[in-house]
Amino acid sequence: MKFDLHNHHVRCGHAEGTIEDYIQAAIQKKLDVIGISDHSPFFASDEEQPHPRITMAKGEFPAYIEEIRQLKEKYINDIEVLIGVESDYFPDQEAPYRKQYGKYPMDYVIGSVHFVNGINIFDTSRWEGMDDAGIRQVKEEYYRQIALSAKSGMFDILGHIDALKGYFPYASEIDTPEVDKTLRIIGEEGTAIEINTSGKTKYCGGWYPSDDLLERALYYNVPVTFGSDAHVPERIGEDLEEVRERLKQIGYRSWRFFRKRRPVDVTL
Ligand SMILES: [Zn+2]
Ligand SMILES: [Zn+2]
Repeated sequence: MKFDLHNHHVRCGHAEGTIEDYIQAAIQKKLDVIGISDHSPFFASDEEQPHPRITMAKGEFPAYIEEIRQLKEKYINDIEVLIGVESDYFPDQEAPYRKQYGKYPMDYVIGSVHFVNGINIFDTSRWEGMDDAGIRQVKEEYYRQIALSAKSGMFDILGHIDALKGYFPYASEIDTPEVDKTLRIIGEEGTAIEINTSGKTKYCGGWYPSDDLLERALYYNVPVTFGSDAHVPERIGEDLEEVRERLKQIGYRSWRFFRKRRPVDVTL
């Protein structure tokens, strides 16, 4: 059983290819399930499209959902297509996001923290001149927000939970009890975390989260899922089998995808 729940396409302004290109790539790679999950619009913004290179306009969201729905029908005999989204999570802006996801027939919603203290986590300039205490503060705030995202109940999956290391691998070396506290909360809430293989497109290499974090996640009974976070169709399903093997070695027995916001557990 092969699935990939995380990918992007031209709508977000920084990915290549149409949704159909990703579906065809998934069929070619013999996936059983592909979930489409472009970046959510900034639903809480007063502007229609404040950042055209980051995500689609607010008014584009219904067309996005409708396109997936049509492609789901078109490819029904080849692959199961799921309706998803990678949502930003801002602790003080839950309501407009909740409202939007309640309006559409979503199969799943991935919640990702992309901003800490108002700055994008992938913006490397944020670390300039910062000492270990400053880095620890950012890391703790990042994990606090992830814990809040789990507690919000808005998400089926939490996206790339150690993405701080993406363009700043040193972030992994800073220890803080917030990481375990957050994993415990995620386990209690039963929210899944994804193994996201896009680390290899960034400075950290490999995938998120690290093996060490996955071992601790297993201890806290956190369910897992898979996403390539592809921004080009060729990356669909990338390293799926390597991740499966690693998860088995760590001690996981199953992983999951989602249909109509209910988990479907699959043996690894
Ligand atoms: Zn993206
Ligand atoms: Zn993301």
